[in-house]
Amino acid sequence: MRRIESDLPCLDSEGKGHGPAIQPVLRLLKSRENSTRWNANYRGALASAVANRQWPQERCAKAGYAEHSKCLLCLHAAGDTDANRSSPSVPTGTGRHRPSRCEGGMARRRCPMAWKAMPRTVR
Ligand SMILES: [Zn+2]
Repeated sequence: MRRIESDLPCLDSEGKGHGPAIQPVLRLLKSRENSTRWNANYRGALASAVANRQWPQERCAKAGYAEHSKCLLCLHAAGDTDANRSSPSVPTGTGRHRPSRCEGGMARRRCPMAWKAMPRTVR
């Protein structure tokens, strides 16, 4: 637990060395709620994130599995060019970017039909 705390400082116990505050996450994973607000799909996504099974573009690039680290949705919107692949104005595809800041991801949530119209390589 202390290793998790040192790897993810945002989860630390304010320097007390108690490890990350994992109880709220465990409560969500054990929940039986089945609504639009919280359901098995969200539990699966949370379990995947907690187990570090997510491979956002930045992680793929660092591991040598991708040519660049830019968010694929944002790069698609800006135009996939060599200049945009190295431009600081195109966001990096991190685990935090897509669910919270990505305009492409927000467009997907607002309009699923637009999401389906995007090239499969971007999704
Ligand atoms: Zn994005």
